Formats: sequence, C-alpha cells, structure tokens
Amino acid sequence: MTAFVFNEINFDNHEQVVFASEPKSGLKAIIAIHNTHLGPAMGGCRMWNYATEAEAVRDALRLSRGMTYKNAVAGLPIGGGKSVIIANPKTDKTPALFEALGEALNRLGGRYITAEDIGTSPADMASVAGKTRYVAGLGDRGDPSPFTALGCFVGAQAAVKHQLKRDSMEGLVVAVQGLGHVGYDYARRLHAAGARLIVADIDAAALKRAQEEFGAEVVSVDAIYDVPADIYAPCALGASLNPNTLLRLKAKIVAGAANNQLASAEMGDACRQKGILYAPDFVINSGGIIKVCYEYFNTPEDGMDAHVRRIGDTLAEIFARADSEDVATSVVADRIAEASFKR
Ligand code: NAD
Repeated sequence: MTAFVFNEINFDNHEQVVFASEPKSGLKAIIAIHNTHLGPAMGGCRMWNYATEAEAVRDALRLSRGMTYKNAVAGLPIGGGKSVIIANPKTDKTPALFEALGEALNRLGGRYITAEDIGTSPADMASVAGKTRYVAGLGDRGDPSPFTALGCFVGAQAAVKHQLKRDSMEGLVVAVQGLGHVGYDYARRLHAAGARLIVADIDAAALKRAQEEFGAEVVSVDAIYDVPADIYAPCALGASLNPNTLLRLKAKIVAGAANNQLASAEMGDACRQKGILYAPDFVINSGGIIKVCYEYFNTPEDGMDAHVRRIGDTLAEIFARADSEDVATSVVADRIAEASFKR
C-alpha cells in the first residue's frame, strides 16, 4: 500500500491519525489530532460522501491543522483536531453510526472532543453523547452561529477602523455572500449598525427575508464579486479569494465567516498588493468555537461575550503588525498562532 498519510501535502507533524471502524453500524471514520500542546484537540465531525479514502484523509489532516491555528489565536485552552465520517449524510445516518463514533472517542480517552460540522447536526451529536462525554455543541443552545456572527461583526468594525479610519458602519456598503446561519445574523448586525446590504444566495427564501427585513439589494451569486461595496463578506463557500475574484472585487475590506477563503496561501499577499485588507478567516470566524469551548468546559458564560469581542482586538493587532512588518495579514495570523501552540 502506498503511504498516503505521512506523504500527504496536508500532513504537518500531526500527533495522531486514527482510522476508526465498526462493521455493524458501517462506521468508517478518520480522526486527526494535529496538536494538543494547549489542551485536548477540539473540532467538528464532518460527514461527507468522499470519493476516495485519500480524499477523506486529506480533509481530516487539513481541517485539524486549521483548528489548531484557530483555537490558538482565539486564546482557548484546546488544541486542534477534526473527524470525518465517510458516508452520505442524506442517506447513511443512523444513531448507531454516531454511537460507534462515540465509542471510538472513548478509546482516545479525551484527547479529541467532537462537535457538529458540515453534514452533522445537534441530533447526531446527541447520539454521540449517548456513548461518550467527549462531545460538545449539544441541544438547542448549542448553535454557535450567532457567536460566529458577532465575531465577524466586531472583526469588520476593526477592519473599518484600520482601513477606512472610521468608527462607524453608517452608510457603508457590505456585499454579503451567503445568508445562512452565520451570514443572516451578521447581516442583521450590519443593518442595525447602519450599513447598506447587497446580498447573494442560492436560497430564494433567505433573499426575500433579507429584502424585507433589511431592505437589502439582491444580486446573482456570480454578480456579488462585482458590486461596488466597501466590505466583501464571504459567508458561504471556501476559496472565494482567487485570481479571478481578486480582479473583480471593488471592496477594500474582506471580512466574512467562510472557512478557507484563500484559494492558495499566495492570495493573502495578493490581497495586500491590491490594497485589500483581509481579515484572516480562522481569526474572524472563531466566535463559534469560543462558544462551544465555554459550553464544553462549563466555563461561566458571563465572560463569553467579551471573549468573542476580543476577536476585534486581535484583528486590530494583526492589521497593525501586517503594516509594520510589510507582510500579509494571513502570515501574521499564522505567526501568532504558531508562537502560542508550538513548544
Ligand atoms: P449555512 O449552510 O447555514 O449557510 C451557507 C449559506 O450559503 C446558505 O444560505 C446557502 O444557501 C448559501 N450558499 C451556498 N452556495 C452559495 C453560493 N454559490 N453563493 C451564495 N450563497 C451560497 O452555513 P453557516 O453555518 O452559515 O456557515 C457559513 C460559512 O461559515 C461556512 O463556510 C462555514 O464553514 C463557516 N463557519 C461557520 C461557523 C458557524 O458557527 N456556523 C463557524 C466558523 C465558520
């Protein structure tokens, strides 16, 4: 068999990669623990119909590494990990499958704590919780999205202050791509702060709601890159900052929730060259994991709002350092993370 873990491009000295299986339920999962220097690894469980096992391994390696960086910059006492289940989330879900995952987590003795992610829901996590305590993001109060949206909003405020030398959002135009759990709540905050919204989504109902509630202007999913806006807020897909879209964007600020916004690392530099202030995705979208971490450790929630709001301060520091060191904001964010999780 070809060794495809240690040679895989996303392998980054991960501490542990576990292949977990259970024949009765059909569980086939990969649990990647990237780094636990700051605490047990935490990151969601993705369920996806991966075409190949190699693709699933790649995703687990890439996403778990990303969680180490995100959790470190957010100042959380946790490391980075991620699990992926190879199955179709529309047809293959059973409670037994998630219970089997819970048993696999027990065998790791708490080195990895899971939560929901793409393809999994709070109900699935409840099944996991039937077998293990190493799971977070449970129940109605488990939805992290409003906190992710709050982090995006304070992040956008920090970006506006740095780039436009303004303390207010009043009258600014924000192009919001994706009005889902995070995007809609972020849009609501922007609207309340006096921003004008231009929005795009594939969901007609979400667009209609935004039109009615915020007076938002609707454009097609492709046109969102071309609109005259002060802020581009990607809240849907990854890789939306690529050579094609960078040529088209008019906004001088990118501040949105989507994961993996840079199609390649060079896009961070490309933004800087173009005079676009990019709020690094794993910093601005960390409100959700802050919420999940507080919940998991039963940390009194009175400090949680302030913790999420510190995302604005962290971004202000990143923007200032990027200027003084003349490097991309994404590079500064990586350096801050690495300084805190590397021994
Ligand atoms: P979601 O699935 O609720 O929302 C995504 C929205 O994007 C949906 O309304 C969907 O219709 C829309 N969409 C899909 N394709 C589109 C396209 N081509 N153009 C425009 N809109 C499109 O997801 P979410 O929880 O709101 O997360 C949004 C992004 O933020 C994702 O990238 C997610 O990984 C990231 N994120 C979310 C959280 C969280 O707390 N939910 C935390 C960190 C990062």
